[in-house]
Amino acid sequence: MPYVKEVFDYLIRTSPAQTEFYQAAKEVLESIRPALDKYPKYRQHKIIERIVEPERQILFRVNWVDDNGVIQVNKGFRIEFNSALGPYKGGLRFHPSVNAGVIKFLGFEQIFKNALTGLQIGGGKGGSDFNPKGKSDNEIMRFCQAFMSELYRHIGPNTDVPAGDIGVGGREIGYMFGMYKKLANRYEGVLTGKSLKWGGSLGRTEATGYGAVYFAKYMLEDRGETLEGKRCVVSGSGNVAIYTIEKLYQLGAIPVTCSDSSGMIYDESGIDLELLKELKEQKRVRLSEYTTYKPMAKYTPVEEYPEGVNAVYSIPCFAAFPSATQNELNEKDAEILLANGCICVSEGANMPSTPEAVDLFVDAKICYGPGKAANAGGVATSQLEMQQNASMTNWTFEEVDAKLAQIMKNIYVSASTTAAEFGEPTNLVLGANIAGFRKVADAMIEQGLV
Ligand code: NDP
Repeated sequence: MPYVKEVFDYLIRTSPAQTEFYQAAKEVLESIRPALDKYPKYRQHKIIERIVEPERQILFRVNWVDDNGVIQVNKGFRIEFNSALGPYKGGLRFHPSVNAGVIKFLGFEQIFKNALTGLQIGGGKGGSDFNPKGKSDNEIMRFCQAFMSELYRHIGPNTDVPAGDIGVGGREIGYMFGMYKKLANRYEGVLTGKSLKWGGSLGRTEATGYGAVYFAKYMLEDRGETLEGKRCVVSGSGNVAIYTIEKLYQLGAIPVTCSDSSGMIYDESGIDLELLKELKEQKRVRLSEYTTYKPMAKYTPVEEYPEGVNAVYSIPCFAAFPSATQNELNEKDAEILLANGCICVSEGANMPSTPEAVDLFVDAKICYGPGKAANAGGVATSQLEMQQNASMTNWTFEEVDAKLAQIMKNIYVSASTTAAEFGEPTNLVLGANIAGFRKVADAMIEQGLV
């Protein structure tokens, strides 16, 4: 369709070298074509041209001093993409691979993900190319304070409410909140993922992983299947991976893998969850340490992965939960998964499957839950944290978990009924993109040209 191609060409021309952003935008633009044909109003109001352009992009310098007294300089980003449905909401990522294209892809995805939750949240994302690996606790604190010393003037509980993402967990949120409080002289719900001792919500830490498993459960239920007794593979060993593994156990499944950027663990009898939490949440060591305590488990370093594949996906499984990072599952991985009988892929990470892998999953008509639907439980529970902060109440873990399960069910129903409405009942990429897009686009039209 020339219209979609024109917008895509415009993006490449005006936002050079933002590969991940092009990838995310292409997927959305292509899959919403049927909605653009059905509703001419979206073209009349130039919704596509407007939605691909962030409302505001904040790029800033972050100076800090390391433990040797040496000055370090990093880049800081906050992209406030779309506020049609509510205050900008989306995480902060600290990872050396962060650049404007990565943050824009994450912010763009976040618009539609947040719309799908049915909650009042707009889309944003931020972060830094700071590498937290190997840094002392004091260095982390100084960096977080330096980062917030600029960011604080752009955010607020009714404006923009960041949360965590790769490299940003409870510790970092704590340091950033402390600095915000000092500079703004206000104690308010400006960040989510806070400690339970001072404004956090029970269930937020678990929400993304739990949500991705709930999403798989609902996809499978529609096909008369369950996760019970089924072997599953999980990638990553951070927040999302750990709580995906926990919920899989609660539903009777057997998660047999996890990974980090150095290698993967295959534990045939099932990943030892308590050991994993101790290694990654308390000791903060590399995953290879796992075999020191569980010598029967197999550790494969990335250098020994077969050429061009992610070894996690070569382990035969019923369901796969990519929970590490973008483009970690390629076409070859998808072929191997399908050949080994995998019938469900639920994405905890953002855009973990390459476009070629996604096409294979959609064509095979397996239960494929794209990240913007399957991992929306995290941001949804962040919004529940905002609700509790605003009303000065605290809900129990069970209340939050029940709300999370219901939200994931609603997202599944919304994506699958929209997919059916457009004649492709099993295509949740199309369903999720159109369902999210319609909500944002309609709000933009109703709010006028702003
Ligand atoms: P964490 O920082 O807690 O964990 C990230 C995990 O992924 C680590 O095990 C890390 O290994 C691994 N990883 C990161 N980069 C790579 C890479 N290039 N190759 C292989 N492994 C890698 O992050 P989260 O668990 O919070 O986030 C994981 C994914 O989930 C991301 O895509 C994030 O955007 C998405 N997500 C997170 C949400 C949340 O609530 N936290 C919400 C929605 C989505 P290593 O330690 O070696 O780097």
